[in-house]
Amino acid sequence: MVVVDNVAGGPAIGGVRMAPDVSTEEAFRLARAMTLKNAAAGLPHGGGKSVIYGDPTMPLDEKEGLIRGFAAAIRNLNDYIPGPDMGTDELCMGWIADETGRAVGLPREIGGIPLDEMGATGFGLVAAIDVAAGRIGLDLPGARVAIQGFGAVGRHAARFLQEKGSILVAASDSRGTIAAPQGLDVADLVAHKSAGRPLTAYPVGRALDKDAIVDVACDIWIPAARPDVITAANADRLETRIVAQGANIPCTAEAEEALAARGVLVLPDFIANAGGVICAAVEYRHGTQAQAFAAIDERIRMNTRVVLEEAARTNTTPRNAAVSLAKARVHRAGQTRRWR
Ligand code: NAD
Repeated sequence: MVVVDNVAGGPAIGGVRMAPDVSTEEAFRLARAMTLKNAAAGLPHGGGKSVIYGDPTMPLDEKEGLIRGFAAAIRNLNDYIPGPDMGTDELCMGWIADETGRAVGLPREIGGIPLDEMGATGFGLVAAIDVAAGRIGLDLPGARVAIQGFGAVGRHAARFLQEKGSILVAASDSRGTIAAPQGLDVADLVAHKSAGRPLTAYPVGRALDKDAIVDVACDIWIPAARPDVITAANADRLETRIVAQGANIPCTAEAEEALAARGVLVLPDFIANAGGVICAAVEYRHGTQAQAFAAIDERIRMNTRVVLEEAARTNTTPRNAAVSLAKARVHRAGQTRRWR
């Protein structure tokens, strides 16, 4: 299923998600989030999203058949440019480009900037965290970090934060949580996970169930897995100063209100996790990896600063400020269109 939410800014860019539990509602909400994200990032693209029902770990030849079938179905949907998301990767985008001539997040060999390999979204997330930490007087060296989801976003965010001196005190994946107050070695943990072993089998720290990541005391809590993991029912369990949304829509609106009321700074998904799509837009225009990193750093820092200043000035949440900013940009883009 494909949702093209808005094309005022240009053809919609949005990921292709494959999971056994995706839903129509999820696709609509994620597509809207992409419209806001692309507009907020100042990209000449609208927002869209695709979901495919299926186990992403199915045999590769089956997956290729499914993805090529999906690509054939969207061949003439020229207003939609697919990109990778949970359950799909560069190879999948290569198959789609082969069928349609349109996709971003391609393998390097056919002109792609490998955004998940270089950690584009994690890099941008850490740029946003750096700006936010400065505003609340949190020093990144020594700051404690807990990350839910240790995939393309989570593991690179951990790496870039460790480079700034922060300490990874817990990480989780779909099988459980590993927690070590003294800190986990990120490179070693990534190597462990890349070898196909669950985080809970890591020899350092304490293995806990996957939901326990919510209770880990930290300074920066990063959701980098699934939507709606923080709700009104569990928001009060978070003991942190910043929630930096690596995942899309990881907190419900009620949860964000509750966190704001407790003074927790929540960096909205479509501002903080725009690194991947900024990278994709650079790739689409045949830019280089260095240009992509520079664009991510500049845009995410600037947007985070503007959003946090506007939220403080108007006494609202960063999300409300960010939505107003993005909607104003979509509206101005729409005014250039004959069909408005
Ligand atoms: P991924 O598939 O590489 O990693 C997801 C990780 O989450 C895996 O480690 C998985 O084991 C873990 N996970 C799944 N369910 C979990 C659960 N219930 N509890 C804890 N961990 C769980 O995916 P990704 O590319 O890192 O994307 C993660 C999130 O970030 C998604 O919401 C995605 O839409 C969003 N996002 C990704 C990018 C990107 O560039 N990859 C960009 C923007 C937003």
